[in-house]
Amino acid sequence: MENMIIIRFGELWLKGANRDQFVDRLMLNIKAALKGEEYSELKNEYDRFVLYASKGTDMKGIEAKISKIPGISNIAHGTIAKNDINDMIGKAKLLNAEKKSVRIEAHRSYKTDAFTSRDIISGFINAKDLGFGLDMKSSDRIYISVAKGRSFVYMDKVKGIGGLPVGASGKAVVLLSGGIDSPVASYYAMKRGLQPIYLHVHTFPSNKAAMQSKMPKIISMLSQFSPQSRSYYAPAHIFQSAVAGMPTKYELVLFKKFMYRLAERIAKDEGAKAIVTGESLGQVASQTVENLSASQHGISTLIVRPLIGMNKEEIIGKAKEIGTYDLSIQEYRDVCSIKIRNPATKTKPPMMERLYGEYGLQDALDRTYEKTSQA
Ligand code: ATP
Ligand code: MG
Repeated sequence: MENMIIIRFGELWLKGANRDQFVDRLMLNIKAALKGEEYSELKNEYDRFVLYASKGTDMKGIEAKISKIPGISNIAHGTIAKNDINDMIGKAKLLNAEKKSVRIEAHRSYKTDAFTSRDIISGFINAKDLGFGLDMKSSDRIYISVAKGRSFVYMDKVKGIGGLPVGASGKAVVLLSGGIDSPVASYYAMKRGLQPIYLHVHTFPSNKAAMQSKMPKIISMLSQFSPQSRSYYAPAHIFQSAVAGMPTKYELVLFKKFMYRLAERIAKDEGAKAIVTGESLGQVASQTVENLSASQHGISTLIVRPLIGMNKEEIIGKAKEIGTYDLSIQEYRDVCSIKIRNPATKTKPPMMERLYGEYGLQDALDRTYEKTSQA
């Protein structure tokens, strides 16, 4: 029996002028995610992709990988039958090994004279030894799709995450911390077609040491949604020495400003069109409207904050779902975990700009940029 997976993509973008480009990109993304998996072929068949594999292939494993790829609305597994009702019934029995009661849905995209869709349904109703029940109201369905010369028989639609293929919206520099929020922000950015380039600012003695921390594990967990991500590691110590002696209440806002600027430089190098952060409103002192405004003052790159409307519990729920939560809560010395007592909550752009200059943060940025390395 030949195995197949039918992959359907979102419908919204199918009508636009970018359709072909998006479809090609999705195909490449699926191939990248399945690198190393054994399957025979992945084909674009009209408004869907079909993956073919021989008997004995780990279909569940392949299915699990495909279901994580943004741009796919659902997937189903199935097989091919001859254009013969008895063969369809035989194949349906093999597919429905769990003997669930099902509803049969038959559709002819190729109109043969040999039988109608109704004939197929009648064939199932009248079949002896079907081995499973037929129930018009069942949410488990077996689909029969008649094409020229053969039919597809499939069941078990698994919902995909929808959205757009990663890359369809261009690239973005994702400011990734060791916390809970930014990995979730990265997930949402990928879901809307942004290809992430990670930037992490660390407190380790060297970039190499940071690359052996939990950070690459978080990035690797996120790569199930987009395997081709790159990452940059930058040291925090140059910034930290520069601000030593400054009233600590401004440190968070200035650190944010510093990170946005570093991200903007990397975005220029990479041809990325946006910066993504895990900020939400009012979650911590640095995230007031005033402080976010003061931090982003002078940045011309679009800053995307996918979590802006989410509550902490919602973010935690999503982090668990995408598999980053357990890594995020592992102890880690993030730059911002340096506890600052009474951080300013209503900073103003001109004053922050002045402090930035007075404490030589422009020069600190140049030096940090020099010391940033790509993993
Ligand atoms: P998170 O849970 O993502 O760490 P947070 O609730 O701790 O967020 P902040 O410390 O204000 O909030 O950080 C806000 C955002 O700034 C983060 O979501 C991330 O995008 C970015 N950020 C913070 N620290 C770093 C860092 N060390 N390196 C890169 N980006 C960072
Ligand atoms: Mg944090």
